[in-house]
Amino acid sequence: MLKIVRSRFSEVLAFTALAAVCGAGVGYEGGRSAASWLAENRLDQYAASVMDVVDAKAAEGREVLAMISSPKFSSCSDADIGTFRQFVLRSEYLKDAGRILDGVIQCSASGGRTLRVEERFTANFVQRDGTLAYKNLAPLQPGKAMMVGLQRGDAYVVFGPQMPASVGPIPMQFSISLRGTSGSTAGLLTGTYPGAEPSLFLHDGRRLVGATLFATRCSTRFAGCTTAYALVAVALRAERKKVIAGVFVGAIIGALFGLALSLAYGHSRGLAQQLRRAIRNDKLHVLYQPVVDRASGVIVGAEALVRWSDDSGHAISPDIFIKVAEERGFVGEVTRLVLRRILRDFEEILRKDGTFHINMNIAAADLEDPTFIPALEDALSRAGVAGRSLGIEITEGSTARHQIAKDAIQRLRQNGHIVYIDDFGTGYSSLACLHELAVDAIKIDKAFIQAIGTDSVTVNILPQILSMAEALSLRVVVEGVETQEQSNYFAGATVPILAQGWLFGRPIPAREFQRAWMERRTIEEARLLPRGVSIKVRHPKSA
Ligand code: C2E
Ligand code: MG
Ligand code: MG
Repeated sequence: MLKIVRSRFSEVLAFTALAAVCGAGVGYEGGRSAASWLAENRLDQYAASVMDVVDAKAAEGREVLAMISSPKFSSCSDADIGTFRQFVLRSEYLKDAGRILDGVIQCSASGGRTLRVEERFTANFVQRDGTLAYKNLAPLQPGKAMMVGLQRGDAYVVFGPQMPASVGPIPMQFSISLRGTSGSTAGLLTGTYPGAEPSLFLHDGRRLVGATLFATRCSTRFAGCTTAYALVAVALRAERKKVIAGVFVGAIIGALFGLALSLAYGHSRGLAQQLRRAIRNDKLHVLYQPVVDRASGVIVGAEALVRWSDDSGHAISPDIFIKVAEERGFVGEVTRLVLRRILRDFEEILRKDGTFHINMNIAAADLEDPTFIPALEDALSRAGVAGRSLGIEITEGSTARHQIAKDAIQRLRQNGHIVYIDDFGTGYSSLACLHELAVDAIKIDKAFIQAIGTDSVTVNILPQILSMAEALSLRVVVEGVETQEQSNYFAGATVPILAQGWLFGRPIPAREFQRAWMERRTIEEARLLPRGVSIKVRHPKSA
């Protein structure tokens, strides 16, 4: 016993661990996707915030350019230079302003008029509005940071390269690009990224080039864009925590799922093992529920219903254990056991009383099993019981493999069995489809009967089912009749109705059933007895 528990425990553990590893894998992938999505978004946001600053710088520069390019004072006079200094001092982004002629700086806020620089600067781009752009216009800061310059007329301004802290941290880098005069030619004003096509820097969007991710945002105010870029690995490193969280969450979900699955599987397997053992040891029971002629109340037959209690003595519903047996492929063993019991319990009555029948439920697997019908024929002929004394109930679901079901039904009917569609109305078959299957009868599911007297719409379908059954010459059994009101509902039916339900009797063991049946028969016979002769009747106990 201890061995079984231990091996079961290690099985659950192994399965749970496997599911956790799979979950971690899925979590890793999920975490990575989330992280790269976040990284891309961060890159986008970074490009947008750089763009905001660049937009503000460009707007300020252009405003100052517009003012100083139409001077109030004579060019490079003290007053002119004083004006530049005022602008530079007041500005957040401007580092210098002055006048330039043929690429040679004439005077500036920082150097005044005395400035002598041999260097001749050449503009890198000409923009559509005639503004010249310089990648570096920094006479006073040789070898230091690049100073981007703009020139209109003879006036120029210079911007510092710094970005405010609000723009956000590096690992990302950025570049600023400008559209040239034709609109299509472009150049990087700041930053470099060899190997990337110019168009990448001039259109909104994200692109992956090699191992580098680019996000470009273009200005709505001037012909330029900013591009943020970072190595994917570096961008992802910043989101590492999300990947780790993904692995953890994935592993935990995987483990829980695996545990639940292995317990459910273990439970079902445990149940299946116990059930198999019970079948082998003949530990299943069969109860019989009376089927009556609704109008007269006379018992015309019974339905055999199998019962089983597991090893700890808990009664398990056939709805559950039949499903387990179906899933594990041994429902046929249950069917054969029930058949043996029916014949053992009712052989004599079935042989002698042609008006009485027992119904048994069979599963889809029985219909598909080529040995089932021959075994049934054999058992009945050895017992000397006619096929018509054993009704066969199949559910709508078991007729899914239409042709196989149709052939089996045909053969069962040829052998004299009445074939019923059980739980009619719960599946998808139309009555016409059942006609095609050529069954003899339908058992209307108890859900319809129990809707009688309630305001459920389900009940509205009943008259339709009854009239179609009549049109197709199908016999009708109503299941689950619990109250007189439910039974009375069918009083006006134009077809004879057989009924089954607690109102007429619960499923009971064979002996009790036979006693009750004999007593009822005696009562019926007593109706023919002379007055004054009475018979004592014992009613069946419920089970
Ligand atoms: P079913 O064949 O439709 O059987 C009728 C079910 O309704 C039985 O449930 C019965 O006890 C219950 N019932 C009868 N009258 C009333 C009533 O007035 N009110 C209510 N609420 N219920 C009523 P049971 O015995 O639990 O069986 C459930 C299902 O298990 C059966 O439905 C049948 O599909 C399956 N089953 C039972 N025995 C066998 C068997 O030997 N073989 C196969 N393959 N399936 C079986
Ligand atoms: Mg049934
Ligand atoms: Mg039923």
